[in-house]
Amino acid sequence: MTNARGILVGGGLANVLIALKLHAERPDSPMLVLEQGPTLGANHTWSFHETDLTPAQRAWIAPLVIASWPRQEVRFPSGRRVLETGYASVSSERLHAVAMELIGPSVRLNCPVSDVQPNGVTMADGATLEVPLVIDGRGALQEQPLALGFQKFVGLEIETDGPHGQAHPIIMDATVPQTDGYRFVYTLPFSATRLLIEDTYYSDTADLDPDRLAQGVEAYAAAQGWKVKRIIRREAGVLPITLAGDIDLHWRTMGRDIPRSGLRAWLFHATTGYSFPNAVRLAEELARAPELKSEAVARLIEKRSRETWKTQAIFRLLNRSMFLAAAPAGRVRILDRFYAKLPTAMIERFYAGALRNTDIAMLMAVMATKPPVKFGRAIACLSEASSWKFASKQRATKPQLG
Ligand SMILES: Cc1cc2nc3c(=O)[nH]c(=O)nc-3n(C[C@H](O)[C@H](O)[C@H](O)COP(=O)(O)OP(=O)(O)OC[C@H]3O[C@@H](n4cnc5c(N)ncnc54)[C@H](O)[C@@H]3O)c2cc1C
Repeated sequence: MTNARGILVGGGLANVLIALKLHAERPDSPMLVLEQGPTLGANHTWSFHETDLTPAQRAWIAPLVIASWPRQEVRFPSGRRVLETGYASVSSERLHAVAMELIGPSVRLNCPVSDVQPNGVTMADGATLEVPLVIDGRGALQEQPLALGFQKFVGLEIETDGPHGQAHPIIMDATVPQTDGYRFVYTLPFSATRLLIEDTYYSDTADLDPDRLAQGVEAYAAAQGWKVKRIIRREAGVLPITLAGDIDLHWRTMGRDIPRSGLRAWLFHATTGYSFPNAVRLAEELARAPELKSEAVARLIEKRSRETWKTQAIFRLLNRSMFLAAAPAGRVRILDRFYAKLPTAMIERFYAGALRNTDIAMLMAVMATKPPVKFGRAIACLSEASSWKFASKQRATKPQLG
C-alpha cells in the first residue's frame, strides 16, 4: 500500500533531484523512491560548471553543494590556462543526507525492484504497488544502441600532510604521460588539506584496473609535492562517450509507455558523459508538467531526450574525430587546441551543451587546422549514420556500458 502519487524507481541522481523538486513545488503529489542500495546516490562526486545552470537552478540545488570555486584551470603540453568560470561539486553523501531529511518517510532503501510497469512496480520480494506515475531511473542499460568510447577514472580523496596550496580545481592536467588514449588528472581542492584527485582516460575500452589507476593518483600527488597523510575515500567510474547511435531503436526497444530518467533516457553530455545539469533541467520540467501520469510524462521525457540527442550531434562528431579519426596518442592534441584557441564564453557553452551555430563554425575551423587526424579517416567519420552502421556491425565484439 502507498499513498504516493508516483514511484521513482532507483534513488540515483536523476530521480532524487526529481523527488526533491516535486516535494518543493508540488507537495500535493508525494513521490515514493525505491532504491536497491543502502543509501541514495551511491558513491559519487558530481561536478558542474557554474554556467551549466541558471542562477535559479543553482539556488535550488545549493543545499547539495559541498564545495564551489570562482575559477578553474587546465594544463596541456602547450601551456596552462585559468578560466574565470565557477565550478562546483555535489557529493552523494550530501545528496543522501539532504533528501533523507526532507523526504525520508517517502524513501525505501535496500528495496530492489524487479519489474516496472506504467501503473506500478513489483519488488524483488514479490510485493506490488500501483500508482498513476512510475519513473524508471535505474541508470544506464547494459545493452543499448550506441557506439561508445569511454571516460574511465579512479579518484582518491586524500588528506595531505600540511596545506597543499592548490586554490582552485584543475579540471584537466594533460601534461602527464599519455597512455590508453587521452589521459589527464583532475583535482578538486575541498579544503586546505583535502583533495579529490582522479586519474582519467578517454579510452577505447571500458575495462578499468582500479589499483593501477590509484597508483597513478598517488604518483601524481607525489610529483606535485603533496604528501598523502591518509586516503579518505575512493571512487571509480566508466562514463559513456557517445560516438554514434540510434535513438529511435533505443526508445522502441525500451518501451515508450514507461517514463525514464537520467542516463536511461540518454540525458547526458555526449563528450563529457556528465548528466548533472540534464538531471536538474528534467526535475524542473517535471515540476511544471501539466499532468503527473505515466502516459503524459513518458511523452514529455521522450521529447526532451530526442531534442537533447539532436543538439548533441556536434559533440558526437567531435567524439568521432577523437576516437575514430585520431590515433589514441593524438587525442590530447585535439583538447590542447580546443583550450588554446577557443574563447571562455564558448567553452562555457560547450560544457552547457548550448553551442550556437557560430560556435560550431569556430570549433570546426579550429579542429580542421593542423588536425592530428588522418584525412581519410576524418572524412569517413563525418556521417553519423554510416559510422553507426559500421559500429553496429562490430558491436558484438565491443564492450557495452556496464
Ligand atoms: C563515479 C562517477 C562520477 C561521476 N561524476 C560526474 C560529474 O562530476 N558530473 C556529472 O554531471 N556526471 C558525473 N557522472 C555521470 C553521471 O552524472 C552519473 O553516472 C549519474 O549518477 C547518473 O544518474 P542516473 O540517475 O541516471 O543514475 P544513477 O545515479 O546511477 O542512479 C541509478 C540508481 O538506480 C538504482 N537501481 C538500479 N537498479 C535498481 C533496481 N532494480 N531497483 C531499485 N534501484 C535500482 C541504483 O542503485 C542507483 O542508485 C559520474 C558518474 C560516476 C560513476
